[in-house]
Amino acid sequence: MQVIILGSGSPLPDPTRAGPSTLVRTTAGDLLFDCGRGVLMRAAAVGSGAGAFRALFLTHLHSDHITDLNDVFTTRWVMSFVPNPLPVFGPTGTAALVQATEAMLEPDIGYRIAHHADLQWRPTATVTEVDRGVVFDEGGVRVTAASTDHAPVRPTVGFRIDEGGRSVVIAGDTVPCAGLDELCAGADVLVHTVVRRDLIEQIGLPRLTDVLDYHSSVSDAAQTAHRAGMGTLVLTHPVPTPAPGTEQEWLDQATACFKGSVVLATDLLTLGVTG
Ligand SMILES: [Zn+2]
Repeated sequence: MQVIILGSGSPLPDPTRAGPSTLVRTTAGDLLFDCGRGVLMRAAAVGSGAGAFRALFLTHLHSDHITDLNDVFTTRWVMSFVPNPLPVFGPTGTAALVQATEAMLEPDIGYRIAHHADLQWRPTATVTEVDRGVVFDEGGVRVTAASTDHAPVRPTVGFRIDEGGRSVVIAGDTVPCAGLDELCAGADVLVHTVVRRDLIEQIGLPRLTDVLDYHSSVSDAAQTAHRAGMGTLVLTHPVPTPAPGTEQEWLDQATACFKGSVVLATDLLTLGVTG
């Protein structure tokens, strides 16, 4: 199994960080977790793409995690030579989101069907709304969901991917919670979105300070990894964007409460997770 951070960014536009998105390459295919800004550009850099995704998993419906759903949906359709429905797993509300995305693309769908004689089907998705338990089990790869806590955003889920005795958890946006602890127990790698409480408090902008109550700080994420006895913590979606030269501060805050290895993600960071 391989974990590739396609987008290590946040809602804040950044010239080097695409929006939140993680690709997990498994023997069952490429599993995509969230689809933020620029996801297909980054997927192209690792030889994957809309048509290659075995499934898309959404942690929640905040805009930065789903901005490019329309791109994945359309590009998969336009670049397939046979109907290729996109399997989507996400919290309650995902089916309505996919329907609304399709409705938004209605003019484009009409243009392309009218113009291409060999494209006579519409883009489709098969949506499964999930809350907890095993949601995908194929070819020795199992994906398990559990509820997380990103209130007032509800519902939200995290995912754990198991293959060959190794496991990766995609936390999404959440504060520490029992559901995430459950996913992390005995797992190897935790990919967690984080914010820096100290810097955000120092900046003192109410719009930014608001994000503190529903995200994990670096030390919150590190404590979650520590409680579960995990081996590796990947800090992603850092807010505010780390200033060049300050990367070590982020790592230090994590290693103060977690003894495993800690990585501050950049786009296309790749981790091999094998027995
Ligand atoms: Zn969020």
